[in-house]
Amino acid sequence: MPATEYAAIIVGASFAGLAVARQVRGRMLLLDRHEVGAVQTSACGTPLWVAETLGVAASVLQVHERLTVRTGRHAITYDLSRVPFCTFDYCAFCQGLLAQSDARFLRTTVTELRDGRVLTADGSFCAPVIVDCSGWRGVVVNGPGMRPDRGAYTFGLEAHTPVRDDGLTFFIDRDVVARGLGWIFPVGDGSLIGIGSYAGRSKLRVPLARYFEHQGIRAGAYHGTYFPNRLGRAIVGRVFAVGDAAGQCLPLTAEGIRPALYFGAECGKIVQRVVAGSVTLEVGLAEYRALVERYREAYRILRWVQWVTEHAPSAWLSLLTALAARRPLHRRWWPRYGLFGAVGSAEAPASA
Ligand SMILES: Cc1cc2nc3c(=O)[nH]c(=O)nc-3n(C[C@H](O)[C@H](O)[C@H](O)COP(=O)(O)OP(=O)(O)OC[C@H]3O[C@@H](n4cnc5c(N)ncnc54)[C@H](O)[C@@H]3O)c2cc1C
Repeated sequence: MPATEYAAIIVGASFAGLAVARQVRGRMLLLDRHEVGAVQTSACGTPLWVAETLGVAASVLQVHERLTVRTGRHAITYDLSRVPFCTFDYCAFCQGLLAQSDARFLRTTVTELRDGRVLTADGSFCAPVIVDCSGWRGVVVNGPGMRPDRGAYTFGLEAHTPVRDDGLTFFIDRDVVARGLGWIFPVGDGSLIGIGSYAGRSKLRVPLARYFEHQGIRAGAYHGTYFPNRLGRAIVGRVFAVGDAAGQCLPLTAEGIRPALYFGAECGKIVQRVVAGSVTLEVGLAEYRALVERYREAYRILRWVQWVTEHAPSAWLSLLTALAARRPLHRRWWPRYGLFGAVGSAEAPASA
């Protein structure tokens, strides 16, 4: 049995990994193949309260009180003012979270977990607690050579453009992407515009470039990756999985930042109790699995609405989005959706 070098090892230092790390005190190792905040894969849209309650409001680039959903030639605008969204600077957000943690950060690539040790390009490490926050590949829980199962992963691609706007937009246009959606997320000095394939089609560069050309938009560098659209396993053996590594990205809206931060914070609180010796690792794992299971039904409902969005004719979608915008209905579902991850948490916003 190798000597324990750390109390906990966290693989992946993006949203999930940093959310876990800021809850844990003690000898902790945080591993990532990139510098923290250096490689952005996301449009970085999330409710404003998330950035505020985490103490990283300085990273906010633009606040959004309107969301427009375009289906075919119809457009419906939702009022988000009760729970506004924001877009933020990825590097500033991550660096802000890192500053709240006392983990040792090491830039290295993790290859796998073998015989209880985390193997990396710079040697191997061990700890009683291991948390996999390595994104959709889940390098620790899935092992090396993971291939995305098309039905369970969405692929998204986007680019920075000079388009300025004062609200978020989703568009569903079968001519641009057959089973998916597009988005325009203003970020102050322009917008991130992208498309996502719920069917996991990764060859999106050509249709996105065609869309830009058609709209007369000049685009900068493209970035994108897979993200899950189905809830996966919260624990595998004695390893905790958080964020995309556990399939926690929300189906339909593809919002993965907030679940990664929420489940990361909850997992981190449990890990802290394990590290402090107030619960055993087995109890901690069981508690975390039970917490995630409580949300399985909500994920199923979102997954079902995603299926409808993928398959229903545009006229139906226009009708459904118009219905969801009607006052009595919108007042019920929007605050509920917008406050997911806040209610019951110590980091709930004042308005929750
Ligand atoms: C184009 C696009 C736009 C999106 N826009 C939004 C949005 O606006 N809002 C939203 O809520 N969600 C959005 N998402 C989804 C969101 O980005 C993810 O759900 C979220 O990033 C998940 O966070 P995470 O910490 O679990 O994983 P990630 O952010 O993927 O982080 C995983 C980390 O693990 C590291 N890592 C991976 N493998 C290894 C390894 N072998 N060794 C060491 N380190 C490793 C990576 O470098 C990375 O830092 C978008 C996704 C895409 C693709």
